[in-house]
Amino acid sequence: SDTTSADALFRQRAARVIPGGMWGHLNAARLPAGYPQFFRRGDGSTLWDVDGRRYIDFMCAWGPNYLGYRHPEIEAAAASQAAEGDCLNGPGEALVELAELFTSMIPAADWVQFQKNGTDATTTCLTIARAATGRKKVLVARGAYHGAVPWCSPSVLGVTAEDRANLVTYEFNDPESVRLAAEAAKGDIAAIVVSAFKHDFGKDQQLPLPEFARLLREICDREGAALVIDEVRAGLRLNLGGSWEDLGVRPDLSGWSKAIANGYPLAAVTGADWLRGAAAQVFVTGSFWCGAVAMAAGIATLKVARRDDVVAHLERLGTRLRDGLDLQAEKAGLRLRQSGPVQMPLVMFEDDPDFHKGEVFCLAMLEQGIYFHPKHNMFLCAAHTEADIDRAVAASEIAFAALDPST
Ligand code: PMP
Repeated sequence: SDTTSADALFRQRAARVIPGGMWGHLNAARLPAGYPQFFRRGDGSTLWDVDGRRYIDFMCAWGPNYLGYRHPEIEAAAASQAAEGDCLNGPGEALVELAELFTSMIPAADWVQFQKNGTDATTTCLTIARAATGRKKVLVARGAYHGAVPWCSPSVLGVTAEDRANLVTYEFNDPESVRLAAEAAKGDIAAIVVSAFKHDFGKDQQLPLPEFARLLREICDREGAALVIDEVRAGLRLNLGGSWEDLGVRPDLSGWSKAIANGYPLAAVTGADWLRGAAAQVFVTGSFWCGAVAMAAGIATLKVARRDDVVAHLERLGTRLRDGLDLQAEKAGLRLRQSGPVQMPLVMFEDDPDFHKGEVFCLAMLEQGIYFHPKHNMFLCAAHTEADIDRAVAASEIAFAALDPST
């Protein structure tokens, strides 16, 4: 690859002063060579890397880009608050208005607390559930991602067995495994944590089966435990009132982040009345948790989401993308695996255990200015247009042709 590109030069400088050049999920070393590490600009559904290459972006900053990069109304709300101040001795007025909006929009939310990152929110849910119940055990789905601190990090490096001693695992969508986990922890269950849908890295996505969702609710009711939905990734993309509203199953606690302030750093825990006392008593805080700019952005984001029926837009375009890709793949003699909700596309190939096809395909998309991910679910945003989708589908015709169906 081009060693004189701006991206290559930034990588060389970063490699000297940042361990590994970049940490965590945004390390471009996890993507095929050819993907940029550094970006300069975003606007609507378009992204530019530091070399000025332009992409129609289907990763949406891994979720936070919900309405479009630099959405004018969100930027105006954030700028107006920034002109007054952001991090002060306590929260701004925006805190109360944002809390009112959350509790009016989400039926399961009787109250809300705000944090910064998704991990803050999921971890706070566990703290509140344990404080309220006086119990230790938490049921979690095997392989689910809930954040990057010892209790939930996908890596065991730097983590002790004691950090996870009180977790009991079950399989998503497998009622029997949930019954067994609940039996094993009986009498000491503080919470069952579940993702809004199964979106494990490199796996087919799965929406929750109604009987699975209802069983989690039943067990929590029977045991006096808290049902915690991790909405960090799915939140506001499936249903503005909560991802399980259509199933008729309501959580006791939910953790939110990513989309809720359109890229400004904000997370939230929403909860039911019976957990209000515990939420008031636990000591949870952070130097930046009351930043008023992100809260102003959050208020504007929720209002636009509701006004513009963003979920319907994402569903419509997601269906157009899924159908278009399926058609092109079929024409090329390839079989795709597209799973989960259309507004969070995951495009994988049949007979592709090492993701080789996916990587060749995504690189061929990248070369045509379409930013796809070969293994992780992607995201649509309100700024995506039919023209964006049609350009991606047109590019896929060429990218599929780059794959030899006989291999
Ligand atoms: N839960 C889920 C489902 C997530 O997708 C993520 C982030 N990818 C987190 C929790 C953690 O959020 P954050 O990275 O903001 O701490």
